[in-house]
Amino acid sequence: PGPVLELVGLERHFTGSGGTVRAADGVTLTVGRGEVVGLVGESGSGKSTVGRCAVRLDEPTGGTVRVNGTDITRMSRRALRPLRKDFHLVFQDPSSSLDPRMTVGAIIAEPLRLHGLAKGDAARARVAELLEQVGLRPEHADRHPHELSGGQRQRISIARALSVDPDLLVADEPTSALDVSVQASVLNLLADLQRDRGFGCLFITHDLAAVEFLADRIAVMYLGQIVEQAPTAELFADPKHPYTQALLSAAPVPDPAEQRSRQRIVLSGELPSPLDPPPGCRFHTRCPLATGRCRTEEPEPRVLPGGRREVSCHLVTDDGTAPDAAAPPQT
Ligand code: SF4
Ligand code: MG
Repeated sequence: PGPVLELVGLERHFTGSGGTVRAADGVTLTVGRGEVVGLVGESGSGKSTVGRCAVRLDEPTGGTVRVNGTDITRMSRRALRPLRKDFHLVFQDPSSSLDPRMTVGAIIAEPLRLHGLAKGDAARARVAELLEQVGLRPEHADRHPHELSGGQRQRISIARALSVDPDLLVADEPTSALDVSVQASVLNLLADLQRDRGFGCLFITHDLAAVEFLADRIAVMYLGQIVEQAPTAELFADPKHPYTQALLSAAPVPDPAEQRSRQRIVLSGELPSPLDPPPGCRFHTRCPLATGRCRTEEPEPRVLPGGRREVSCHLVTDDGTAPDAAAPPQT
């Protein structure tokens, strides 16, 4: 079987007050069966837009979205409904996605009911099982979301998403609204469930430690585009794109005994607006290595030798030799 998610040249443009916002602008990305792909970048880079388009919560304005090989890009809501059991999204803030009037049990059972998979006693039994799998007790089924902590609410939205055994879970910053003290336990839960059930996962985050822990592969976004993709260990060991180098240089090293000795790269300026992205390479306004060519010519994504890495930068050579943004040439 092919990948669970394929995005090809995905675009999400919309008209804002000042013109066309290019929130996602030609994103090509694949999540294999049982694979966890981390999507990282600053806030405003378009990560959430990509996640929402992947499950058709936002409408793509160009490109293609395929789930389990089926093109859902322009499928009608009605045609999409039965397919929705194959893919789910878990949001950053569970309080906004859990109906406060419903009991926890009804919330978790809702997808089962909508897809006609279980009702009555069978649904109740399934809810109890799911509660246990996410580390809660059967009694929680009778509570309401507001009676529970943020971490417990996020466990419930995970239980609901997994109730129908989806092939794809899109998790958008699933822990960033939680207390730091419970973030690790929710991440561990996601990792355990993913390993046991083998669903594919698009894990959207700005937390590099979380993505290093959970993802098999990472895609780095900047201003609506993916600038680099690589297997996790390779990306952390040897970031090729100057933006990836800067992003990783700013991340705290989880284990201080581990010598990554990466020199901090401070980027100048703010993330430009997706309303009017810079011409040429979008990163040129902040890249310490930018040349004249970067200001006019947009770099194409190039697959590096070995076929597992892809990077969009004029200065990365065909054999994969990358420049060092921490040591720009003196001019
Ligand atoms: Fe920097 Fe140029 Fe590479 Fe863009 S193409 S990342 S501006 S060196
Ligand atoms: Mg976001």
